[in-house]
Amino acid sequence: TPLASLRGFAELMLTREFPPAQQRQYLTIMEKETIRLSTLINDFLDLQRIESGHQTYHLESIDLVPLLNQVLALFSFDKTKHTFHSNVPKFPLLVRADADRIQQVLANLLSNAVKFSPNGRTIKVEAAQREEFIVVKISDEGIGIASEMVPQLFRKFFRVDNATTRKIGGTGLGLALVKQIIEAHGGQVWVESTQGEGSTFSFSLPVASA
Ligand code: ATP
Ligand code: MG
Repeated sequence: TPLASLRGFAELMLTREFPPAQQRQYLTIMEKETIRLSTLINDFLDLQRIESGHQTYHLESIDLVPLLNQVLALFSFDKTKHTFHSNVPKFPLLVRADADRIQQVLANLLSNAVKFSPNGRTIKVEAAQREEFIVVKISDEGIGIASEMVPQLFRKFFRVDNATTRKIGGTGLGLALVKQIIEAHGGQVWVESTQGEGSTFSFSLPVASA
């Protein structure tokens, strides 16, 4: 609840004097909560737009390889706890897709891989052609998902509710967005996971015909 926290810290700073270091600490929290709130609102608006049929996709023939490398570089930049391993070919993997939306899918899956592996370890990204589709896999060695939860994961606002996930936080919109975007491209998204060992989220996109 980013708003409650923003309001709380604002009220606190208005009613009492704090030394500069403490002020800075509170402002840092407020800044983080603002970013969280804006992500939440944007995810929510994106889903609303998709579900009401007002999302337009700019489909082009795009190469997934540089896109994957770009998103991966962005993610591995400030994450020292995790080791990122890329198994992406040197040759192009052409799909017919909206690059911005696929970037959003990759960012959501990578952000989940990072936050649901609180002990760090390896996050692996691989991509390869399987018949008429390009399949991308993002694996982590994190907390994993109980098999009975899997059918619900892609539902709006669904979160696995246990002590660990409550501490990690989130809204439950990321995977709903991922599913909507991938299916609108004619692809599929699925997950394989073992509780306590890690998860692999995969999606497919139709190859761009020449
Ligand atoms: P948001 O993405 O909106 O910030 P979120 O990450 O909690 O919030 P989703 O991305 O939709 O929501 O994921 C739904 C739930 O699926 C998560 O709350 C978590 O319980 C589970 N989950 C998703 N990815 C993983 C993963 N890589 N490992 C373990 N559990 C996962
Ligand atoms: Mg998420």
